[in-house]
Parts: sequence; structure tokens; C-alpha cells
Amino acid sequence: MTYKVAVVGATGNVGREMLEILHEREFPVSEVVALASHRSAGQEVSFGDQTLKVQDLAKYDFKGTDFVFSSPGAKISAKFAPIAAKAGAIVIDNTSHFRMESDVPLVVPEVNAEDLKGYSKRNIIANPNCSTIQMVVALKPLHEAANIKRIVVSTYQSVSGAGKSAMDELFNQSRHFFMHDVVNPEEFPKQIVFNVIPQIDKFMDDGATKEEWKMVVETKKILDPDIEVCANCVRMPVFIGHAEMVNVELEKELSPVQAKKLWQETEGITLIDLESEMEYITPAEIAGEDDVFISRVRQDASVKHGLNFWCVADNMRKGAALNSIQIAEALIRDYL
Ligand code: NAP
Repeated sequence: MTYKVAVVGATGNVGREMLEILHEREFPVSEVVALASHRSAGQEVSFGDQTLKVQDLAKYDFKGTDFVFSSPGAKISAKFAPIAAKAGAIVIDNTSHFRMESDVPLVVPEVNAEDLKGYSKRNIIANPNCSTIQMVVALKPLHEAANIKRIVVSTYQSVSGAGKSAMDELFNQSRHFFMHDVVNPEEFPKQIVFNVIPQIDKFMDDGATKEEWKMVVETKKILDPDIEVCANCVRMPVFIGHAEMVNVELEKELSPVQAKKLWQETEGITLIDLESEMEYITPAEIAGEDDVFISRVRQDASVKHGLNFWCVADNMRKGAALNSIQIAEALIRDYL
């Protein structure tokens, strides 16, 4: 069986990665359609050794399309995803728009593939936020073994998480900085080059940012509503790869050695510890990789059963495009 697939936002960071991963994993396609705004209609994008002409989303008829991999931003998804779903397509949406709707599954296949069962109510499945995905992949085996009570996470997020124009901004600010020119922030609230910014997305009434709120509510929806989550999200001058320092408080004893053994046995996780040649891993070393990488595993002696670890993943792959395609693969395996 093969499927007609549409990639919405095909000229963007996530969309281009979708096309690459669909090809790499030999997703069973009969046809691939690249969609974006009218601004890029007629441009070309690569799919393996083929080039696809980008079509205008507003003019596209979804009848006969089986899967839609969507990343055009929340406002655009809000409008067109229900239209595509009504026309019979299964929409896997990367934006934040549908994630917290109770009849829309929010899925990381290694963690909660069983939540896909209600997908046909809306024909829309939400892909979680990039920072949430890599954290819940790492936490799932710990939660199963020793029940997580509380998480405190601090993120170090790359600029690619904010789209292609944000990557351009880091590049341009770097050039201006070395030429002693004025560095004008446009995509970010403050200078990003040689700086760190403790704001991702807008501020909420309680002083948290929306990115921090997303990590809290999405982790509860995916993993367990009883887990308490404290999230701090920070933007770094790094092109690709999000890093997180994660602290967990468990209900039962789980030593760093036991935790490492669980991670070594978990598909999709690579453990790089002090005994290995690399000792620990950084975002620059994992761009283009599929796994979630864990290092710096150690006990937190300040609480009864506490663990700390460092977790790094490619935000555009496991944090977005790869996870979406794994959702479609799980649907094909279990439901279609
Ligand atoms: P991006 O690089 O800025 O790309 C945005 C894409 O959306 C482009 O293809 C753009 O097409 C398209 N688009 C914009 N307005 C449109 C319209 N009116 N109609 C049709 N297409 C339109 O952004 P991105 O990083 O790929 O992120 C896209 C979405 O995925 C966002 O909601 C983001 O929050 C989410 N997401 C991103 C990541 C990540 O790591 N980057 C991770 C998880 C989720 P044009 O080229 O024609 O403008």
C-alpha cells in the first residue's frame, strides 16, 4: 500500500526536514506534494533526487490526499488542517494550535503510541513541542521504573526552533558583530549573537513564557497528569540542536547506574557517559541525528530520590519532522 502525502510548509525548516526524512526512511509514497504560501509557489524543493514544484496551499484540494505533514505556523494550521481532515486526509500537525484539545492525540510514538486510538474523531494528530519531545523520550523509562513526582528542566534551545528567518538572524548578526556594525534584533527580542535570551514565545500572566507553559501541560498530557513540572526555557546562539539540563525527583530509589542501564536498553536513546570516549555530548555534535542523547547522569543528593542528566536532540528531526513521520508509521502499522 502506498500513500499520497502533502507537506505543508515545505519551504520551511521543518518542511524541508520532512521531505528529507520521508525519502530517507522510504516512507511508502505514491506521490508527494509540496505546499507553502503563495509567496513561494513555483519554487523548487528537493525530495531525494527529484525536485518538486511548490504549490500554493490556499489553492490546493486535499481530496485524495492520505497524509498531511503540516508545519506552516499555528494560525495557518488552525484554518486549513480541519479542511484537509474533512476531505479525508490524516493531518499530523507540528504547530501548537491543536496540541491541548482533548479529542486530538498528542503523541510521541515511543512514549504514548496507544493515544493514537482516538485519532479518527478529528483526523488530526498533534506533534508536541520540540523541547517536550526529547524530554519525555528520556523520562519514559524512568517513570515506568520509579514513578516521577517532579521535574525541573532548564532548556538551551537553538535558533532553528524559531524557523528559517531566525537562523538567518543569527548568521547576519554574527557578520555585523565582527564588522562592528549595529546588531538589530528582529526575530528575537534581544541580540542573539554572543548572548542568551531567557524568553521563548510570549509572556503569560504569571510571568512564565508560553514555551515554558507548553512544556508543563504537554508533559502532563503525554506522560502523566500527576507529575509536577517546572520549566525554564532559554534561547542560545546555536544553529541546530536543543539541550536540556533535567532534574527529576522519583518516588522510588533509582541509582544513576540503574537509570543508565534503562536508557541503554531503550530504542531511540544514546547514552554518552564519562566512561565513553566523548564523555558527554553537545548540540553541534548531534545535528542530523535521530536519537535523543543523554549524558552527565548523576545523583541529586539534595532530595530523597533525585537524578540529574543532560539531554540533547536535533530539534528539527526528533523534535519535529522525524516524530511526525514516526506517528504516521505507527498509524500504518496499527490502524490502516
Ligand atoms: P519556518 O522555517 O519559518 O517555515 C514556515 C513554513 O510555513 C514555510 O514553508 C512557509 O512558506 C510556510 N507558511 C507561512 N505562511 C504560510 C501561509 N500563509 N500558507 C502556507 N504556508 C505558509 O518555520 P519552521 O521552523 O519550519 O516551523 C513551522 C512550524 O513548526 C511552527 O509552528 C513551529 O512552531 C513548529 N515547530 C518547529 C520546530 C523547529 O524545530 N523548527 C519544532 C517543532 C515545531 P513560505 O516559504 O511560502 O513563507
